[in-house]
Amino acid sequence: MAYIETRPTQGRHFLQIPGPTNVPDRVLRAIDNPTMDHRGPEFGVFGKALLGKVKKVFRTTGDVVIYPASGTGAWEAALVNTLSPGDRIVMCETGWFAHLWHEMATRLALKPELIPTDWRRGADAAAIGEALQADQGHAIKAVCVVHNETSTGSTSRVAAVRRAIDEAGHPALLLVDTISGLGSVDLRHDDWGIDVTVAGSQKGLMLPPGLSFNAISAKALKAAETAKLPRAFWDWKAMLAINPTGYFPYTPATNLLYGLDAALDMIEEAGLDAVLARHDRHAEATRRAVRHWGLEVQCAEPEEYSSALTAVRVPEGHSADGLRAAILERFNMSLGNGLGRLKDRVFRIGHLGDLGDLQLMGTLSGVEMGLKVAGIPYSPGGAQAAMDYLSGNG
Ligand code: PLP
Repeated sequence: MAYIETRPTQGRHFLQIPGPTNVPDRVLRAIDNPTMDHRGPEFGVFGKALLGKVKKVFRTTGDVVIYPASGTGAWEAALVNTLSPGDRIVMCETGWFAHLWHEMATRLALKPELIPTDWRRGADAAAIGEALQADQGHAIKAVCVVHNETSTGSTSRVAAVRRAIDEAGHPALLLVDTISGLGSVDLRHDDWGIDVTVAGSQKGLMLPPGLSFNAISAKALKAAETAKLPRAFWDWKAMLAINPTGYFPYTPATNLLYGLDAALDMIEEAGLDAVLARHDRHAEATRRAVRHWGLEVQCAEPEEYSSALTAVRVPEGHSADGLRAAILERFNMSLGNGLGRLKDRVFRIGHLGDLGDLQLMGTLSGVEMGLKVAGIPYSPGGAQAAMDYLSGNG
């Protein structure tokens, strides 16, 4: 069948897109358990423990709601629970995903102001601060920032955005999309004063797609009491009324929740800080390979490099999609494509989730061989540069 690996003679497929990521066997085994009665006694015990456990990865003691939906659903939930039609909000166009969130806000009858970037860096905290300083009447109700912009491999300095909001003395909520950052890039919901953190299952959490999350501050909960955007499925109220008992207001994605339980255990056993440090190390090894090849990293701001993925620019006159097609055909590896204005200009190497040194080396070797096959000019030895770094930095 089409969804089963179609290249059985080429070994295991390398899924090195920046999400969905490789699902560890332990998580697959957990998902493989029989579906239980989601209103039965065992589920309440399981659900209660899980809803407590999930807070840690967000570094929050507050509420986290879990939706049976992809990340886009949790984006919508963050907006409709906190805002009212016609509300002004500030967004920063860090790349394709920030663009899509902005489009959604417009369709929801919000009035987003978009701060542009060149898609080579994170959100502009200073520009956000200026927009808020200029809003003496406090008409702006929220600032929305993408923490890890998956289309460019750039991160936003969320703590700096928080500081800019505070320095402006502005009461706007801070909504953060860390759909591809959670579990891969440092994110501190409580310490950074985030009001709603939006996340998804299929990236650093090492699960298949299908779950998404809102971590919610007390201030966001308060805003939800008066927010007037229409909401039903996404309403936090129904979730938060029943979640303390371990149950959900509608049918949860039971088997994905088993997987989440196993994935959170894996992160806890390794230690979240160690997991993040592994991502940093793999990202650095990848960038060393890219530089050695003579190619350019899309993120132009070293302090904002993503540890979850690296977007790589191909030289003018060459096709990133052609390279990806050659790598898929010859080496059975999927890499991320360029999105929006980066279509065919970049390819994206996902190095997030469940990944070891040898998998990363397989990935980088595949890219290096692919560069040769696709006829893209490069300097051989990038994979070696990554090996030197990894073997010297255990
Ligand atoms: N935001 C970011 C940063 C993403 O990477 C993605 C998906 O890759 C989304 C939002 C949309 O999430 P989903 O495709 O799970 O609906």
